[in-house]
This record gives sequence, structure tokens and C-alpha cells, in this order.
Amino acid sequence: MQQSVITDKFGRTLQDLRISVTDRCNFRCRYCMPREIFGKDFAFLPKEHLLSFEEIERLTKVFLNLGVRKIRLTGGEPLLRRDITTLIKRLSNLEGLQDIGLTTNAVLLGKMAEDLKNAGLKRVNVSLDAIDDDTFMKINDSRVRTQPVIDSIIKAKETGLGVKVNMVVKKGMNDHQVVPMAKYFKELGVTLRFIEFMDVGQTNGWDFKHVVTKKEMYDEISEQFELEPVDPAYFGEVAKRYRYKGTNTEVGFITSVSESFCSSCTRARIAADGHFFTCLFAGEGLNLKDILRNGATDEEVTDTIVSRWKYRDDRYSDERTEETAKNRKKIEMSYIGG
Ligand code: SAM
Ligand code: SF4
Ligand code: SF4
Repeated sequence: MQQSVITDKFGRTLQDLRISVTDRCNFRCRYCMPREIFGKDFAFLPKEHLLSFEEIERLTKVFLNLGVRKIRLTGGEPLLRRDITTLIKRLSNLEGLQDIGLTTNAVLLGKMAEDLKNAGLKRVNVSLDAIDDDTFMKINDSRVRTQPVIDSIIKAKETGLGVKVNMVVKKGMNDHQVVPMAKYFKELGVTLRFIEFMDVGQTNGWDFKHVVTKKEMYDEISEQFELEPVDPAYFGEVAKRYRYKGTNTEVGFITSVSESFCSSCTRARIAADGHFFTCLFAGEGLNLKDILRNGATDEEVTDTIVSRWKYRDDRYSDERTEETAKNRKKIEMSYIGG
């Protein structure tokens, strides 16, 4: 397969692709899909607007030809997409693909883990924002306790999937859970990554004062456990990695707010309705679904993506201010795919 390397205005290549397979979710996390907005009357995408598996596969092939090597399926909750294992099977067989992962709240992961692994999935990132039931239930607003998520994590590990846990930390919401979560996953031998709360979308009431920085979390954890730095595994790795001294277990920090990493951002996203985004904080995307459905050839689709990437100058997090965080139009995380 011929691989072309395309670069944007700042010389960043296109290396990874996140594909959102649904904008729906079985949780209503307060900071992502608050129930007052994502309630019974919310207009989720109609089925015919979702990319079909054929369309996702076709676009993935085009992106692989452009140098993408890693893809991650997300949403909404990707395990809600019907026959997701069939999609994974189709994608994991594509030439040139090195890694396929999925981000999930893990409610459905336990019973699907084996099928997902057999379909070719390599790794899962499980989102869990607290180890304490009350805090977790207040966040997910869906009466789900932590145990089913933990059972899924253990099941996924036993199945042979790579497993990492992600925790978004918001001041006053779950910052008291940083050390208990670190302790729990250190003992379980699973990598935990703390994510700084971000101003994605328009509905989560974000403010700088809600952000718990990496430094604050690092200081708190190091009072309990000795940490040593781990080198990044590849260019553009977003997590700052550490190891608990004397173990093989890692802990990481995704410092999107306090130490932004736009200069090495090689990631593109496709929303569930086929809009292509070059930044998580974009206001508008390029409608690839219509281009596909209007009969474009692979070459034409490729040219469209290449011209969009060449003009990419996104560096939202490097330039974030109170003003952009509050007033800029941004799409929702559940739509673009986290
Ligand atoms: N439903 C799946 C899940 O929760 O893992 C996949 C989609 S979710 C949008 C992907 C990730 O984005 C989750 O780990 C979630 O916690 C994170 N996320 C959502 N809103 C966020 C925000 N405002 N700041 C930081 N991370 C956020
Ligand atoms: Fe759903 Fe994930 Fe958003 Fe929570 S963070 S509401 S699980 S999409
Ligand atoms: Fe990439 Fe945009 Fe995030 Fe910067 S703000 S790291 S360009 S997604």
C-alpha cells in the first residue's frame, strides 16, 4: 500500500483517527450529557444519518492510505452501536492498521469483552470517575454503581485486552477520589490516567476554577506513593506517564488545560454522522457523509481530506482563554467522540 505523509500548517502529520459510532449513551454524566439537556426530547441523530459500516470501512481505508495507523472507536457509548463487533472485525482486517481501540463506560463491556477481542479489538479505555458509589452515581446520573464497571475491567483484562482506566477530575465533583482511585488501580495493576476537565461543547458549564491541574494531582499522589517518570512510547503520546516505584504499574496525566500539547497533535475525528473534525474544540466539521453518498470516488474523498488537513491550523488548547472557553461555538463531546 502506498503511504503518503500529509502535514498541516504546523508540520503535524495525520497519524490517528477517532471514529464516533453513535451520539447516544446509557449514561448522563453531569459534565458531558447533562440530563436537563440530553433528556427525552433531545434530538439524537436519526439512524439514516449515521455512517454505515460500509462507509466507515471505506473512510478508514482512505485514512490508512494517508498514513493513519491507529484508530479508536468512541461515541456516545460505542458499545450501544448495534453489531459493533462486526464493524471491529471488518476494520481490524484492513491492511496497514496497527492498532484498534475503543473508549467505553464499560457497562456493557463485561458481556461483550470476549467477542470484541475475538473480532480483533486490541485495547479498551474504560472511563470511571470515582471508586466510591455515591460519587460515581451522582456523576453518571444513571444509577449505575462502580462494581459492574470494575467487573468489566477485570473481565476485559482476563480476556487479554489491553485495559487503561480514565478519570476526568473536576473540582468539587470528584477531586476527593484522586488518591482512592490511584490506590485501587495500583493494587489492581491497571494503568489509571487522570484527565483535566476540559471546556468541550457548550453544555457543561466549564470554568477554569473547576480544573484540577496535573501538578495538584501529582503532588497529592506522591505524598502517598513514590512515582518515577516513564518516557513517552511514541511521538504525540498525550499522557505524561509515571510508574509507582518498585512496580510495573503506571499512572498518567492528560494535561489538556495546564500543559497543552497542540504542537504534537496528530489526531483527526469523524463524528457519527460522518463530519470530519481536525480539533476536539472545532465549531464546524467537513461533511464526508454527503461526499460519499453523492458518489465521490476514493481519489476525490482523499483529495478533500488532504486539502482540509493541509490548511489545519488548530491549536485551541495552546490559546485557551476565559473568553474562548465561554463564548466560542464548540460541538458536544458526545457527538464528536471523546
Ligand atoms: N462513553 C464513552 C466513555 O465515557 O468512555 C466514550 C465517549 S466519552 C465522550 C470519552 C471520554 O471523554 C470519557 O473518558 C469522558 O470522561 C471524557 N470527557 C467527556 N467530557 C469531558 C470533559 N469536559 N473534559 C474531559 N474529558 C471529558
Ligand atoms: Fe456517556 Fe461517556 Fe459522556 Fe459519560 S462521558 S455521558 S459515558 S459519552
Ligand atoms: Fe489537538 Fe485541538 Fe486538542 Fe490542540 S486543542 S491538542 S489541536 S485536539
